[in-house]
Amino acid sequence: MTKSIDTGWNLDNSYARLPESFFSLINPNPVADPELVVLNTKLAATLGLNAEELKSKEGINILAGNDVPDGSVPIAQAYAGHQFGNFTMLGDGRALLFGEQISPDGERVDVQLKGSGPTPFSRGGDGRAALGPMLREYIISEAMHALGIPTSRSLAVVATGEPVYRETELPGAVLTRTAASHLRFGTFQYSAGVGKVDDLRTLADYAIERHYPHIKDHENQYFSFLEEVMKDQASLVAKWQHIGFIHGVMNTDNMTISGETIDYGPCAFMDTYDPKTVFSSIDVQGRYAYGNQPYITGWNLSRFSEALLPLLHNDEEEAVKLAQAVMADFSERYKRIWLDGMRKKLGLLNEEKEDESLVEQLLSIMQKNKADYTNTFRALSFDQPVDELSCSGEFNEWYRQWQARLNRQEGSKESSRELMQQTNPAIIPRNHKVEEALEAAGEGNFSVMLRLLDVLSNPYTKNPDKEFTNPPEPSSRPYRTFCG
Ligand code: AMP
Ligand code: MG
Ligand code: MG
Repeated sequence: MTKSIDTGWNLDNSYARLPESFFSLINPNPVADPELVVLNTKLAATLGLNAEELKSKEGINILAGNDVPDGSVPIAQAYAGHQFGNFTMLGDGRALLFGEQISPDGERVDVQLKGSGPTPFSRGGDGRAALGPMLREYIISEAMHALGIPTSRSLAVVATGEPVYRETELPGAVLTRTAASHLRFGTFQYSAGVGKVDDLRTLADYAIERHYPHIKDHENQYFSFLEEVMKDQASLVAKWQHIGFIHGVMNTDNMTISGETIDYGPCAFMDTYDPKTVFSSIDVQGRYAYGNQPYITGWNLSRFSEALLPLLHNDEEEAVKLAQAVMADFSERYKRIWLDGMRKKLGLLNEEKEDESLVEQLLSIMQKNKADYTNTFRALSFDQPVDELSCSGEFNEWYRQWQARLNRQEGSKESSRELMQQTNPAIIPRNHKVEEALEAAGEGNFSVMLRLLDVLSNPYTKNPDKEFTNPPEPSSRPYRTFCG
């Protein structure tokens, strides 16, 4: 089953050494006619993988799930999750974990195939994925990385040469993604659901060793673990808010212990500023709307903390108190990180009491005037007029207040502007540009996507191509995303 060519694979399988209830050993499900669509050669290099070998027939067979690399113990992971609020036992229904690649820098990175065929957790699904959504995950996850947001990465997309059946027949594909790990809030919920406290402790020890080793000698390391996960999630969702990213399906099985963004399904970036923005076709209630994301992160953390209760304290009431203490810190911490980031977006180098109100006023004016979120902050960063706001008296008054605020601070105008230009991207993966790339790819033309990927890798460029910064033409139909 394994190949001996030197592709640079250096796999360990520490997750597969956990108690066996946490995973299922699986076999590859070969596909007919694998063809490499896109390979992330830079990422391959940081992982110590040989890009040329990955492009060979043997390499492509591995990226298609026809074969496994040397040293792999292929598994599907078990987990649970609150999906739109409802608890469900789940697992990788269309993913295969090769193991953990130990990079030349000594980093341990999960390498996982998505769309690689059915597993014991498929629950009637076909275990497959369509080309469009896999390319979409590739594009958006790599854009997020370039924007400086913790995220899983995309190594490759291989077309399978087989159709998948959704509403229509679509070309099938397999995505290879990498992540600090695929431990989820839902992995802990699964373990708590199974009810073996020893296994739950083993899982927590494993997660601590892998992501938060510095807390190992803390008196109550499980309490510290909850705190660390809370802090990383508060920071992550603040970054999403700063950049206008809408995850779309913040179920607890899609929230990582590592604090990385994962599971790019119906996610999309907001164009005009509106906290109620929802793109996902299945999110009819707006549970995962842009403005709701921080609240949902808190809600998800509460579910995670409940799974940890048996480890926090022998006495259940005491355990609940400890969990609540961490949850009580979340809102304030999130707010502080969010406001710090918004200050940067406005070039504020120190803190004043009225900053929050200054930020909120601007957002409110943007919402009223349907201003483009990204372009507004970008224009302010270069002291250029904001298209949708230049005729707004309210905006002009706000602008005067902002200038007065900037004049009050000690730092120079230049350092303030420099900060803004480094904080406010010119380029985000705009929905209409992503769709354009996917449409061309569907017709066998991958050059549009490769150009988009290239542009997205440099989001803070001072000379952006207008083609990629223009907001979409107003259209009669709102943009909708699907789970793929
Ligand atoms: P998601 O909403 O993408 O996080 O997926 C929720 C669950 O459904 C996960 O456990 C997936 O593995 C599973 N799933 C999604 N699509 C499929 C599919 N085509 N076949 C089998 N399982 C799937
Ligand atoms: Mg098992
Ligand atoms: Mg998922």
